[in-house]
Amino acid sequence: MLPCATPTGRRPTMTSRYDLHTHSLYSDGAAHPAELVALARERGVQVLALTDHDSTEGLAAAACAATACGLTLVPGVEVSASWQNQTVHIVGLDVDAAHAPLQQGLGGLRAFRNRRAEEIGRRLEKARIADALAGAARLAHGGCVTRTHFARFLVERGHARNLAHAFRLFLARGRTGYVPGQWAALAEAVAWIRGAGGVAVIAHPGRYRLGAGKLRRLIAEFRECGGTAIEVVCSAHNPDVTRQFARLAREFGLLASAGSDYHGPGCGWADLGRIAPLPEGCAPVWQVWEGRQMVAPAARGLTPV
Ligand code: AMP
Ligand code: MN
Ligand code: MN
Ligand code: MN
Repeated sequence: MLPCATPTGRRPTMTSRYDLHTHSLYSDGAAHPAELVALARERGVQVLALTDHDSTEGLAAAACAATACGLTLVPGVEVSASWQNQTVHIVGLDVDAAHAPLQQGLGGLRAFRNRRAEEIGRRLEKARIADALAGAARLAHGGCVTRTHFARFLVERGHARNLAHAFRLFLARGRTGYVPGQWAALAEAVAWIRGAGGVAVIAHPGRYRLGAGKLRRLIAEFRECGGTAIEVVCSAHNPDVTRQFARLAREFGLLASAGSDYHGPGCGWADLGRIAPLPEGCAPVWQVWEGRQMVAPAARGLTPV
């Protein structure tokens, strides 16, 4: 799915104790949250975050399954944001899903998703691909329609060989079915997450096509508006990129996160729990909530930045 696998093309074979970025069928993942939790447990993941795109709907089922099998579930979300004409994803970890402003914000993003899905359908129709909206909606099981669902439909209909091919032909920026995102502002995304008691993390920073200067501006702005961590380890990063973001995290005083961005079997290169360890010298993001368990409730919200 992602352009930059490790140079060897191999996944780490060891399972990480923490996998803090995964998807279920409440967004564009393939598995029900309970199946995801069961697979994580089987793999040896001990602390799992479910971080569906712009939705916390799967968290209750995931928490229930996690309690039953003794796995720690970190309630999360992956918020779509727009920054300088570019879509960036901000993962929120340890969020209180009942927080009204967070839900209001996510509701607005899902409303945009619905409008965008209709527009993608119209554009594909013009390109002589019939019934794409209905097909994508069917694959979304009544949930929010993402570009991944359109990609699955296009593969199903034989318009593309695989998901990456469908993105390349139809859905990536500049292609027929691409509709520019009108997502949350960076500061809004961070504020919703922090307001819900969570920790904001820049997701898969190596995937953004930003030059070095712009990348540093993104990180600086993210930090200024209350962001706490960078996903240093993820499936999209090869070892060099991982080291680069470990250095940037240290330089900007940000914590380091680690997540596979697992979407399901056959959904690309990411695999649940199969991610590299954090490089030496990184301050892990989980110290925030693991530390909270030992401090007085009044200290909650004082996240180290
Ligand atoms: P959306 O948030 O609806 O715009 O869809 C973005 C999602 O599409 C990402 O979270 C990925 O799961 C998926 N995606 C993006 N680019 C690609 C690609 N080149 N190949 C496969 N999946 C992709
Ligand atoms: Mn996705
Ligand atoms: Mn993402
Ligand atoms: Mn993701």
